[in-house]
Amino acid sequence: MTGPMLNKITVISLFPDWFDAFMAMGLTGKALSEGRVELQCINPRDFAQGVHRSVDDRPYGGGPGMVMRPEPLALAIEHARSDPSDIVSGMSPQGARLNQSAVESLALREQLILVCGRYEGIDERVNEALIDEEWSLGDYVLSGGEYAAAVLMDAVLRLQPGVLGHCESAAQDSFTSGLLDYPHYTRPPKWRGRSIPEVLQSGDHSAIEAWRRQQALKRTLERRPDLLTQTDLSDQDRALLATLQDSDTD
Ligand code: SAM
Repeated sequence: MTGPMLNKITVISLFPDWFDAFMAMGLTGKALSEGRVELQCINPRDFAQGVHRSVDDRPYGGGPGMVMRPEPLALAIEHARSDPSDIVSGMSPQGARLNQSAVESLALREQLILVCGRYEGIDERVNEALIDEEWSLGDYVLSGGEYAAAVLMDAVLRLQPGVLGHCESAAQDSFTSGLLDYPHYTRPPKWRGRSIPEVLQSGDHSAIEAWRRQQALKRTLERRPDLLTQTDLSDQDRALLATLQDSDTD
């Protein structure tokens, strides 16, 4: 990956403790503890006025649930946005679907500001005034934007230089090359009556590479044929796919 490097993520959430495990564990914890990226959590409650520091209220027009009040959230976003050009991203089931190519472009930003909704969501006027884009994990409803922010951050952080052990690890992953990843095996070579494909023990690197490409194409054809229409395929790939399709119709 080339371009500017992500150096700061700010998450705006009513439940900042939610991110404790995320900040402590795994690759994301390592990226943060090594100081590759700084993660800051801002709680809109810290910007709420009044004895109760209330951050939610009943919806105008009636109906169930509560809505996040505009002012504490707006103040939290304005605190996070140090420059007017900073992009503020809301987590929302109504947003654009997060996919690997979106993750790759988010990973090139110097800073991310992620706004997590709760309850019935945030007051629409905050969306209009301060949210520049919205990201959805998919067509289902979560109880809070924290789940979506954590997924987005994990996907983006693992693309940062030095976070993954091997520089090619991300390149071979599903979606990065436009295909699903090939199957992986480790020791023992025989497990519960199942052997690993022989070629993987052959030591013939070009045969292994060809087998992996074939498996990636086969899996993509079987599980996600829609991806094949958006992927750059070589003549060899196309010939292989034609054989796979033929053997399917036999
Ligand atoms: N009433 C909202 C609607 O139907 O569009 C759903 C609110 S949801 C219970 C509370 C918060 O969870 C949302 O404001 C959003 O931040 C987050 N959320 C829920 N589903 C999500 C999804 N699929 N992708 C991203 N964020 C989601």
